[in-house]
Amino acid sequence: MRVKVFERASSLRPAGFVVGILPNALKAIRAIDAQLGRDLEDTLRPAESAANVSIFRNTGELLMQVDGRAARERYDRYGGGLFPVAWYDLQRFFAARLPPGVLEVASAFDRYEPGGADSPVTVYLRDGRTVTASVLVGADGNLSDVRRQLLDDGLPRFAGLAVWRAMRKRPAVWPVEAGLLNYADAGEARKIMTYALPDGRLTWNVAAAWPEAEVGRLGNLRYITAGHEEGTPQQKLDRCLGALGESEGGWPDHVLDLLRSTELGAITEHPLFFREPGDCEVYGRGRITLLGDAAHLTAAALGQGTSQTMEDALELGRHVALHGPTEAALRAYESVRAPAAGAVQKASADLVRCWGRLAEKWVLAEQRASEAFFSREYQVALCLAVLAAAGSNAVGGCSAGTARLTSATVQRACQQVVAGTNYAFAFDAAYSCAPTGAGGAVKLNAIVYEPLPSSGNGPQVTRVWQA
Ligand SMILES: Cc1cc2nc3c(=O)[nH]c(=O)nc-3n(C[C@H](O)[C@H](O)[C@H](O)COP(=O)(O)OP(=O)(O)OC[C@H]3O[C@@H](n4cnc5c(N)ncnc54)[C@H](O)[C@@H]3O)c2cc1C
Repeated sequence: MRVKVFERASSLRPAGFVVGILPNALKAIRAIDAQLGRDLEDTLRPAESAANVSIFRNTGELLMQVDGRAARERYDRYGGGLFPVAWYDLQRFFAARLPPGVLEVASAFDRYEPGGADSPVTVYLRDGRTVTASVLVGADGNLSDVRRQLLDDGLPRFAGLAVWRAMRKRPAVWPVEAGLLNYADAGEARKIMTYALPDGRLTWNVAAAWPEAEVGRLGNLRYITAGHEEGTPQQKLDRCLGALGESEGGWPDHVLDLLRSTELGAITEHPLFFREPGDCEVYGRGRITLLGDAAHLTAAALGQGTSQTMEDALELGRHVALHGPTEAALRAYESVRAPAAGAVQKASADLVRCWGRLAEKWVLAEQRASEAFFSREYQVALCLAVLAAAGSNAVGGCSAGTARLTSATVQRACQQVVAGTNYAFAFDAAYSCAPTGAGGAVKLNAIVYEPLPSSGNGPQVTRVWQA
């Protein structure tokens, strides 16, 4: 089968912060190709010690520390590990393994003619070229042009946050072993994350509340905004520092210096968007489907955006292997992925909606929720996270059996979290979640991984079952 990947960017260049490769991602990649999975693990493993996480209050007080190796050992129980990886490094990893001629950069999708039962889809590129194909997969990200034509359902929802990111050389003095440093404002919705890569690079990410009326000032709404943002590159950094409340003081000098000394051209700026699962129940028609953020853009909580995309790729590959590049394959892929990804979208959106309340607790809650994502305790952890973010003091342990679920709010949050959902094979049996006085077991879905028909020796592909 011939595959072509058309990429709008003129070249693959350093951008972005860090994405999480979580157990479901690694399992999906191994199932697509066992050797690819091994190569990815080998690539990621040197960064293992950098997987430590430290969370500070913006005033410098240490709130929480996670030992990366210990965390990874816990995640290993779910068959996959826990790897933060720079967005650009992951892009390079996959691009380098494509057969020659598959990837074409500087090739922006413009529009398509859908074709019919007996005629192929025709894709028009912005440079005037046309391409015909049996199927078109729109994997063009959060503001997908393919989605716009296919579903015409408008922009994603604004999460109330702006994000600035950059990759740069690490300062001469930096606590590398601390790994991912997270500085959260105690009262305002703003945080700074930094991640030191073992090879001397450092990437940072700022997220801060931003008024909806001023979204248009944030570049061209794209991740790569150089040349499109309002004003000069310096004004972009000024917007970032302004949103952090730099002039009010309160952030550690070494962190602010890090931002100020970054080359301005390396900084990207964009609004944070997400879609509700209900917006994403349909993401294909005829010979067209969507994949990744284009299909089911998640809010930036739980770190599952990239991992869900890997599950999409696996599932799409499985159905194309079974049915060929046909409409039947696309519909089968969507029928499995829409509910599964929707569950993660929902959990993630619940967390982001709480962001504005108490940033510091939110950061702690998010850390705990994502750590517990693959454990039996996840349901309880997420309930606690939602509550904590909403201002309750419920952030405590998240160990099943010991967590006491007492209030009606917890019960409601718990029901929200588990409603008709699937949390990527986290559970091997129904988890009993019985708020006081309510009783009753919560029904959970899970995914079991089986080999891809084409890969033979991979241990996994998805099948949905209900506990
Ligand atoms: C430059 C960049 C940096 C990012 N940094 C982070 C990060 O630091 N942390 C994080 O959690 N997530 C980041 N993301 C988002 C993250 O990659 C996704 O949430 C997730 O991995 C899902 O990937 P995706 O392939 O669906 O979408 P994306 O990774 O967004 O990839 C979509 C691709 O489609 C291309 N594209 C868009 N429109 C067109 C078009 N008309 N024609 C051709 N190509 C087009 C884009 O250039 C991009 O390469 C970043 C995305 C980008 C593009």
